[in-house]
Amino acid sequence: MRALGYANAAFDLLKRSAIPPYPQFYELLYTYATGVNPSLNNRINAIFRSGISPSSDLAEALYNEFLKSDMNDRMSSVSERMHARIESVHEAIDAAMTTANAYSGSLQSAAGDLERDLGGPAMKALATRLLTETRRMQDTNRELERKLEASRDDITALQRDLDDVRRESMLDPLTKIANRKSFDEGLADAIAEARRDGTPLCLMLVDIDHFKSFNDTYGHQTGDQVLRLVAMTLKSNIKGKDLAARYGGEEFVAVLPSTDLKGAIIVAENIRKAIQAKELLKRSTNEKLGRITASFGVASFKPTDNATALIERADQCLYAAKHAGRNRVVSEAELIEIAEVSDKDVSAA
Ligand code: GH3
Ligand code: MG
Ligand code: MG
Repeated sequence: MRALGYANAAFDLLKRSAIPPYPQFYELLYTYATGVNPSLNNRINAIFRSGISPSSDLAEALYNEFLKSDMNDRMSSVSERMHARIESVHEAIDAAMTTANAYSGSLQSAAGDLERDLGGPAMKALATRLLTETRRMQDTNRELERKLEASRDDITALQRDLDDVRRESMLDPLTKIANRKSFDEGLADAIAEARRDGTPLCLMLVDIDHFKSFNDTYGHQTGDQVLRLVAMTLKSNIKGKDLAARYGGEEFVAVLPSTDLKGAIIVAENIRKAIQAKELLKRSTNEKLGRITASFGVASFKPTDNATALIERADQCLYAAKHAGRNRVVSEAELIEIAEVSDKDVSAA
């Protein structure tokens, strides 16, 4: 996984184009750099070839077409309904206040009338007027009460919808485990905790081996099933405060608080073996698809680390695992050994 490379490539593209550096445009170019969405890449390549310089309108159109999820639509629907609800309550309150003002005016003029000595018919007319005004006031108040009650129910329902949307916005839609956004937040929290309490913390990166050729052989949909299986295997082999997330494409990540490097390597080995042990069967046809394997990089947090540095070290371990033949766990301890050996080689030469 070359996440930092993708991120840099995305920043470069952003810098070189006339597109303002909004997060959604960065997301667009990051997705382009990772290549996980071939139709998006084809379209962008065609734009680059045509020599059109990308404008923010074009970027927005692409974002809407390829990346904007129905989550955004649902979010705006909740917010629109909330808006409409608040508007209607405002109107009801305005109406009630207008009526209350008019009522208070009527009372004042009635008080003036009463100070004069009124005859029987005038007194009757005054009483009738006050009665009518009072009824109108009562009606308006009842209407306000009804509207407030309806809004209370509505707002409770909206709140539930909003909670659902918020929960789902933290999950990867395909595998239903935490997404990149929750990972970023979870890692930041875990780092803050490790720093505050002086407890160990490890980060594990997982990348499925030769997954491109698996997709090419069995199709993208079967590939997606495998991603779900790997996600579940990851999730069922961690516990407590651990966080498993989909990092992107066929790459996963686990944050392991209160876990030292030795412990994290054991967790990674368990997951590696569990993935390798699964014999894949295509449900619809019972066709045997063989097995898949994955490579692991494990790094442990140092007080001088920020999130990027920790991810970068785990990434180097993962790269070393791929390089050493895949289907293995490489931890930072081994990475340091490799580095020391090559240092010796250099000094011996
Ligand atoms: P390596 O062992 O070096 O990791 O090889 P690889 O083929 O796994 O790595 P590479 O980065 O070349 O390809 C990753 C592939 O993962 C590309 C794409 O076909 C597949 N992939 C990424 N995201 C998805 C997805 O959401 N669904 C499916 N089915 N495949 C995906
Ligand atoms: Mg990869
Ligand atoms: Mg891979």
